[in-house]
Amino acid sequence: MAKRSVTQLDVHGQRVLCRVDFNVPLAGSQVQDDTRIRAALPTIEWLRKHGARIILCTHLGRPKGEARDDLRLAPVARRLSDHLDAQVKPLASVTGEEVTKAVESMSNGDVVLLENLRFDPREEANDQTFARELAALADLYVNDAFGAAHRAHASTEGVAHQLPSAIGLLMQAELDALGRLLDNPERPFVAIIGGAKVSDKIKVLHNLLPRVDTLLIGGGMANTFLLAQGKAVGASLVEPDLIDVARKLLEQASDVDVQILLPVDVVTAPSIDAASGKVRPVDSVGGDDMILDIGPETARSWSDTIDATKTVFWNGPLGVAENPAFANGTADIAEAVARASGYTVIGGGESVAAIERLGLADRIDHISTGGGASLELLEGADLPGLAAIPEDA
Ligand code: ADP
Ligand code: MG
Repeated sequence: MAKRSVTQLDVHGQRVLCRVDFNVPLAGSQVQDDTRIRAALPTIEWLRKHGARIILCTHLGRPKGEARDDLRLAPVARRLSDHLDAQVKPLASVTGEEVTKAVESMSNGDVVLLENLRFDPREEANDQTFARELAALADLYVNDAFGAAHRAHASTEGVAHQLPSAIGLLMQAELDALGRLLDNPERPFVAIIGGAKVSDKIKVLHNLLPRVDTLLIGGGMANTFLLAQGKAVGASLVEPDLIDVARKLLEQASDVDVQILLPVDVVTAPSIDAASGKVRPVDSVGGDDMILDIGPETARSWSDTIDATKTVFWNGPLGVAENPAFANGTADIAEAVARASGYTVIGGGESVAAIERLGLADRIDHISTGGGASLELLEGADLPGLAAIPEDA
């Protein structure tokens, strides 16, 4: 199911509205981390090289339909200008007369950036009039905002129905990498799923189960699975109403011959703010203990599994990695994934942050720029921002 690509469009001299995901962290008037800006460069550079007039648009933060000075895009435009070695003009509003005028005066290869889309309440409401206002600025539409593709908003969904549309190069790279996990992954295939809650990840677990050889479950969500196996987890984070769901998943796995591995040892402490924890076998967790990380024995044996596979997907930290006392399991697994000779993909906000903090990002084959979007894609869901783009003719 290939989507029409920007490279199939004749963009010379055309006004191209390009939705990007520049939802970057700001510190005052500085961009703190420009990963997402850099990820959009291939599409922007392709458009410039082919003589398009590029109208970029993005959301940033959650302004909830009102203009907020601390969420203006001027710092983003500055950083993008540095990368492109060309002046990117930040516009003072999202749509309206001034924007129309600025776009009319563009030359081929020029780049402007509309103001934060979410300053307008009609963006998140996927308002048709707003989608038409955006469409009226341009001749063509390109969606390169993978991180926003799971949202049906005016700039990601509505506008695609108003103009000839295609996906950008980043969107394509994300689809290729995540698609490779779902369709014919090279075996053996191991998925490592961590994070806080089973409820956040249950659909991904279900969709990946028949595709993987081994599922490693860590983080807070492992506790509910341990309970389902009849183990005591003390004062750990658990979701009692999902014990049955966890039990069924364990049964399904054994039906289809997929190995689900839970921690064999854990790090426990009385609270998530503790300065240090105790390593113990998983079957000797006391009543007041909270399980806050996987133990070293688990990390070692999971690392061996990761080493021996051809495809690796990782989402979600394996412990409360915000606290250095409980970050070792996540760091060990991050290193194992970086070392692995197989094809490696990481998705999810916290797991990506961990790999970057550890300086291992360039040793991973694909780091998804979309947390929520990558998970929804792996759940097998239709992403509205993609569904609105026509298939490759
Ligand atoms: P990602 O953003 O990578 O998808 P999640 O958002 O699912 O990851 O999960 C991250 C959260 O999971 C972190 O805030 C972390 O503290 C929490 N977490 C991990 N392990 C545990 C645990 N054992 N107990 C409680 N919370 C945990
Ligand atoms: Mg998260």
